[in-house]
Amino acid sequence: MILMICEMCGKQVTFCKKVTIEGVQLEVCSECSKFGAEAKKAPPKELPPKPVIAQRLEVRERRGKPRDIYETSGKEELVEDYSKRIRDARARTGMTQKDLAMKINERVTILSKIEVGQMRPDDKIVSKLQKELGIVLKERVAEISVTKETPKPTSITLADLITMRKE
Ligand SMILES: [Zn+2]
Repeated sequence: MILMICEMCGKQVTFCKKVTIEGVQLEVCSECSKFGAEAKKAPPKELPPKPVIAQRLEVRERRGKPRDIYETSGKEELVEDYSKRIRDARARTGMTQKDLAMKINERVTILSKIEVGQMRPDDKIVSKLQKELGIVLKERVAEISVTKETPKPTSITLADLITMRKE
């Protein structure tokens, strides 16, 4: 039989439990293990801010949905290839993303997300882009499209959230 030595009290025991006592991982006897938390359970870490952001975005989306359905009825809607139209039009002007972002008074990160189709520009940005680039980004939609879904942003940074809340 192999005997182990409890790292806390020094007693020789047949079975040692791994526990964390005051942040230190020790192999102790069952008696001493009462003083610590089992090592398997990691100390509770502070939750990263991401789930909170995700929740807020979900709420935003839920709030936005019914209204969007009403607004598509006979109204102008963002064209599906908006990102391509913006990219092409900007390329024609010779402006960089930074140049254009400055002209329309928006963040470069926002513009680049719009240009890759990761983010749908809101009405304010759409009208600024249309004016600045001389392009059409909205089309009249005759019927309500139920299957149409707003694409979720693939990644949201804190900076983006701050920008959104400012708007
Ligand atoms: Zn012990």
